[in-house]
Amino acid sequence: MNFLEEKILSDGIIKQGNILKIDNFLNHQIDINIMRQIAQELKRRFSDVEVNKVLTIEASGIAIATMLGNLYDVPVVFAKKSETANSTDDKYVSQAYSFTHKHMNSVFVSRPYLSSSDRVLIVDDFLADGQAAHALIDIVHQAGGKVSGIGIAVEKGQQQGGKLLREEGYRLESIAIIEEMDWQSQTIRFRQQ
Ligand code: 5GP
Repeated sequence: MNFLEEKILSDGIIKQGNILKIDNFLNHQIDINIMRQIAQELKRRFSDVEVNKVLTIEASGIAIATMLGNLYDVPVVFAKKSETANSTDDKYVSQAYSFTHKHMNSVFVSRPYLSSSDRVLIVDDFLADGQAAHALIDIVHQAGGKVSGIGIAVEKGQQQGGKLLREEGYRLESIAIIEEMDWQSQTIRFRQQ
């Protein structure tokens, strides 16, 4: 078992509705030591790809992205969420349904922060149905850039996001992949990697 799987087992709380709460080290309080290890592990797994920008989505992806940007010494961009944004001359806009908040978000990045010369490592805290990741991929492509890879802390393997992204040919690395979790018994089984 790796460091993140151990931390999830010791500190995670499984909620009804297939939600894992890891507020005490990632989604509310941030454990810098765990963040550092997540960033180091993602950098190691993507050591063979070119990266000149790290892209995530507000809010919880920002901590991981910042640690990773520090290791690569490249800029970090976070897409913003808005209920109203439309594509305009000054921003790239995509759509993502929020699994946790159960509504559609527009997701946008201002045009100056992404371009065709960018080789982008997309990162996020969770991967569930892949809505957020697909919106970020769409935005990179609108800018004419290339997606170098997608780095995730916790993939929920019971949902379809990981399968879809791998089938689409993206290089996806998830540090912990949950195969099953049960809120009544508070048990989690991880995929062997
Ligand atoms: P997706 O867009 O892949 O369907 O869902 C990923 C997004 O939803 C992540 O950015 C994350 O914020 C949120 N999310 C999905 N599942 C969970 C979960 O079980 N726990 C938490 N804390 N966030 C989740």
